[in-house]
Amino acid sequence: MPETSSSHAVIVGAGVAGLTIAHQLVQSGRRVTVIERDTFVGGLGRSWHYGAFHFDVGPHRFHTENPRVADFIRQILQEEAIEIPRLSGARMFGKFHEWPLRPSVLFSMPIGMMFRCAFDLLHRPKVEGESFEADILNKYGRTLYEVFFKPYTEKFLFHSPADLHRDWARAGVNRAVIDKRASADTLWSLLKTTMLPKPVETTFLYPPTGVGRFSDRLDEIIRERGGRVVLGAPVEAVEARDGRIVSVTAGGERIACDQLVWTAPMPLINSLLGIEGITLNFLSTIFYNFEIKGPLKHNFQWTYHGGDESFSRVSAPTAFASTTAPAGTHGLCVEFTCRKGDERWSHPERFTERIIDDLVRTKTIDRREDILNVHVEPVPETYPIYTLDYLAQLTRSLKALGQYRNLLLAGRSGRFWYNNMDHSIGQGLTMSDKILRGQALAEIDDNDREFWAEASEAPANQ
Ligand SMILES: Cc1cc2nc3c(=O)[nH]c(=O)nc-3n(C[C@H](O)[C@H](O)[C@H](O)COP(=O)(O)OP(=O)(O)OC[C@H]3O[C@@H](n4cnc5c(N)ncnc54)[C@H](O)[C@@H]3O)c2cc1C
Repeated sequence: MPETSSSHAVIVGAGVAGLTIAHQLVQSGRRVTVIERDTFVGGLGRSWHYGAFHFDVGPHRFHTENPRVADFIRQILQEEAIEIPRLSGARMFGKFHEWPLRPSVLFSMPIGMMFRCAFDLLHRPKVEGESFEADILNKYGRTLYEVFFKPYTEKFLFHSPADLHRDWARAGVNRAVIDKRASADTLWSLLKTTMLPKPVETTFLYPPTGVGRFSDRLDEIIRERGGRVVLGAPVEAVEARDGRIVSVTAGGERIACDQLVWTAPMPLINSLLGIEGITLNFLSTIFYNFEIKGPLKHNFQWTYHGGDESFSRVSAPTAFASTTAPAGTHGLCVEFTCRKGDERWSHPERFTERIIDDLVRTKTIDRREDILNVHVEPVPETYPIYTLDYLAQLTRSLKALGQYRNLLLAGRSGRFWYNNMDHSIGQGLTMSDKILRGQALAEIDDNDREFWAEASEAPANQ
């Protein structure tokens, strides 16, 4: 069937990818229905609002080097696109440090470790292979690998770096680097960055009540323009006939479609279409959102935790915008990764006390008595896990789904793509251009992984 201007595009997932595509299509008069599992829009880019406290899904900021994406974000947020400077930290060797690291970190490093790192700078045998372990050993040497990368990865991902593909480093570690001057793709460049005379300064956009405002605005515009957004409706079935998707059933309603844009997790559409034998796993995360009395102790927007504390990162919404908490209070969002179905996922409340103990022990807060409230928020499928064979599995999945000529896969979850909001938005803009030009969906492929090519070009972190 040709795709006419009256054809009905169904978009599964109201994260930034799905909403950007829906926005562009309705603006051009297309008939669009967005189907979303949750009762709110935004996906991983949502915000939680508890009275006057506002939290994001961990630290979230709009940062891009793509001018079209930057213009689009400003166009949607209007006067709520406020530019703020970045200030992030890392807790290493028992102390808080600025991130990217400053010379002070060298003084808190045990002397023996300093010598071992210096030795690694001069003698790094080349390790062969595609693994994350090989990548890190070649870049940073054995000491930093054993002291930081290995334990951090095992704590965060429950996988040994030896079992992960090196793309995990390209997407994750390199993006913890903030701008071109702050390269960290070798031990030498990491050291050079640490020794820069001035800390690296970058800015980003942030709305006063959290990044979810961007998705809320898109949702409003889509509805104003006649688009339909169905919330609280997880997709239950996808019906295909003669190599085309003909309907999607969600929330008990069967919705006929001419085109299907899928931005929900890729394994789900595989299982709904009966595609078997493909293993693509996601990590999930429990977010503990604390409302706390008194001022913030460390002014970092987010802090990486590489020690034996149970969490991997803590973010502070009030360090993004003071408007995210009532005067005299602040919020802290603790990330505690898990796998769907494990004890952390099934009983997150069992870990609250341990997390509070660790917040006090690491001097992130002074006293547990300052905690006014905690909201425990499990979020499924936060990170695609790049195991050693992930590219082969992904290729098989894309090939099997490629049989459906009116199906398009987009976004972080839909493409199994460890990306940032600006990548999902940019991809959404170019994909909708192609749809509007009349290009057949089966021919549109825009998985722009270019940002991995060059670490120093990396725009943002996680
Ligand atoms: C902790 C953390 C910190 C991050 N920090 C940043 C940052 O600082 N800057 C940045 O740019 N990016 C950041 N990111 C990445 C960013 O969140 C994502 O790149 C972006 O939000 C992905 O949007 P998306 O629309 O592609 O996917 P998603 O947001 O995953 O959207 C998929 C949608 O599909 C829906 N869905 C799932 N199953 C179903 C179903 N069965 N039926 C219907 N709908 C379904 C989901 O609810 C969701 O709304 C961070 C991510 C995480 C996890």
